[in-house]
Amino acid sequence: MITGMFEYHAPEEVQDAVALLAEHGDEAKVLAGGHSLVPLMKLRLATPSVIVDLNRIAALRGIALANGGVTIGAMTTHAAIEHSAELKAALPVLPAAATLIGDPMVRNRGTIGGSLVHADPAGDWPAVALALDARMHLVGPVGERTVRAEEFFVDLLTSAVEPGEILTEIEIAIPVGRFGMSYQKFAHPASGYAVTGVAAILVLDEASGCADCRVAITGAGATPVRAAHTEVALRGSALDDATVTQAAEQAGNGIDFLGDLYASEEYRKQLVRVYTRRAVIAALHSATRGTGAVAAKTI
Ligand SMILES: Cc1cc2nc3c(=O)[nH]c(=O)nc-3n(C[C@H](O)[C@H](O)[C@H](O)COP(=O)(O)OP(=O)(O)OC[C@H]3O[C@@H](n4cnc5c(N)ncnc54)[C@H](O)[C@@H]3O)c2cc1C
Repeated sequence: MITGMFEYHAPEEVQDAVALLAEHGDEAKVLAGGHSLVPLMKLRLATPSVIVDLNRIAALRGIALANGGVTIGAMTTHAAIEHSAELKAALPVLPAAATLIGDPMVRNRGTIGGSLVHADPAGDWPAVALALDARMHLVGPVGERTVRAEEFFVDLLTSAVEPGEILTEIEIAIPVGRFGMSYQKFAHPASGYAVTGVAAILVLDEASGCADCRVAITGAGATPVRAAHTEVALRGSALDDATVTQAAEQAGNGIDFLGDLYASEEYRKQLVRVYTRRAVIAALHSATRGTGAVAAKTI
């Protein structure tokens, strides 16, 4: 359980980190909180010969509200999101979901950027980012680009970040109008990772029906996915109990479910139905009553 030898760099500017990655090519790996990368290195499943540590780059940390949206630096820790008063007011699902990640040690070191780039199929942020239609800002040797969450999660443990690129910040628009949001997960009892997690964002019309919605699921297949059939069933509906239940029944449609030692494909299908219903109802309650668990987990 000892890593291979590596050269260590800790630049203080994003451009210096990009230059180091360009210089060392495939040999180099970026280090954020280290809570996914370091275990892989200890098991020798990852053996980078150069580590570019982003922890001294102040520009990659922080939370800012402007122009009807929020930007979160990629190196912002789960704990900083959990305790952010601005986010609690603007996009409460973010701090609420952060409280459900791992344990205090993981939340104090782990970063939202590292979690998104790592693209763990059981990670929490991928579902929340997809439901919030987050935009990922990347910088690399050929300049900057932006990738929507929809295109960001490419495959199992594979994001759209190309070798040599760094995720710098995550931008999220605050929904307009009366909205509610929720993230509900069935957590693995040992690690806290999502066996299944569902994020729901509802925008209500004047009669408290569904003007718009986005529902995203993690822990079901290789990548997070939108529950497209559920969204169609909810949009324009009165959000009554029968409609929500029937919409949630369709949440797994079109998903290529993965099974493992902990949960079979069939079990995950059922979890997806149950947690989609819970997430939609909690989002509705947060919009209409200002109550309801914005995020909750069951073990
Ligand atoms: C015991 C335990 C419990 C956990 N429980 C949960 C849980 O309940 N839910 C959950 O979602 N996660 C959980 N995690 C994972 C945790 O959230 C990690 O922090 C996260 O997956 C990776 O973030 P990191 O900052 O540690 O990234 P690192 O481990 O440093 O990096 C991960 C990968 O992303 C790359 N990378 C990192 N940052 C960038 C960047 N800015 N640009 C480009 N590439 C980058 C690295 O090169 C590496 O390949 C758990 C981890 C542990 C150890």
